[in-house]
Amino acid sequence: MNTHFNVRRKVFRNRRGAGQDAANRDTRPAAPPPPQAPPDSIQTVLVDSLMHGEKEKMGACLVPGIRPALIDPGPANTADNVIGALGALGINRLDSIVLTHIHFDHAGGAGHLAERFPEATVYIHSRVARHLADPARLTESVRAVWGEQTEALFGLPMAVSEERIQRIDDGDTVDLGDRRLGVIATPGHTRGHLAYLDQETGSLFCGDALGVQLPGSQVIRPSTPPMDFCLDDAVKSIETIKSLKPESVYMSHFGQAAPGPEQACDQAIEAIRRWYESFLHKLEIAESDEDLRRRFHACLEATLEPVSPVTRRNLETVNPAWLNIEGMTGALERDTEHRAA
Ligand SMILES: [Zn+2]
Repeated sequence: MNTHFNVRRKVFRNRRGAGQDAANRDTRPAAPPPPQAPPDSIQTVLVDSLMHGEKEKMGACLVPGIRPALIDPGPANTADNVIGALGALGINRLDSIVLTHIHFDHAGGAGHLAERFPEATVYIHSRVARHLADPARLTESVRAVWGEQTEALFGLPMAVSEERIQRIDDGDTVDLGDRRLGVIATPGHTRGHLAYLDQETGSLFCGDALGVQLPGSQVIRPSTPPMDFCLDDAVKSIETIKSLKPESVYMSHFGQAAPGPEQACDQAIEAIRRWYESFLHKLEIAESDEDLRRRFHACLEATLEPVSPVTRRNLETVNPAWLNIEGMTGALERDTEHRAA
């Protein structure tokens, strides 16, 4: 296998185009709608964070009840959009800010939301909780991936004070007052990735575990980013989600998985296997990093993703191919080192 060229370095040099348009868009909140009474149903409410100043890219989930919870507030620079939307929904108190994983597009706004809702506890996997209390090292590693676009795309996180952070893992629960959210370890996308199941409504919040599916298309693009993606874990986690037989699965990007939980899980497993196989095959025959990317993109268009150019452009802004290639490269390197050890 031809692995002697430096995929990672090449990828870095070419990443700029991916987020430039989005970074230049206005992310200021629109004028707030008039206030309403809090939801009287316990059904999930999808809150569009308007990531990158665009609709339907990143959705937070409000889980209403006696002790309302918000799952994955989104990036730091759209926290005001989410706070405004919660206000319009009549939510003046949040008990829990619940995070599927530490990535900036999911958890970056947690500190800002925690400041607005001082009674809220912030729940996150124990292995990454330290980054909430002190985001400096995490910010450094995000900058190493996204470069100078980092701040424009996501904003920068605010620290959450230690006493407000609840470290959780598989089998724990989040108290909603009248019911609980079950915590399910779903490593793969990241090692510290968690999903949550509302046992009363059957809604399951999967973060990025299934990948990305945008409105208007049922195609699922796998999400295989740096720094600790693992294919085998990702597949097992999707199988776990399927085995729980949820009523609905909420994907952070974006909304309820279509056509339904079971088919979406099957589709996500097939997609991520083909995605990784395709990466390995292109790596084998590619003559340079640029050639690898070109071949992978050609494969996306030809076979992996039968979507419109608009959908592909949207998938690229939310979950760019260069980022996924970099994540798979890292996974392959770890795998190779592991075998050699
Ligand atoms: Zn992620």
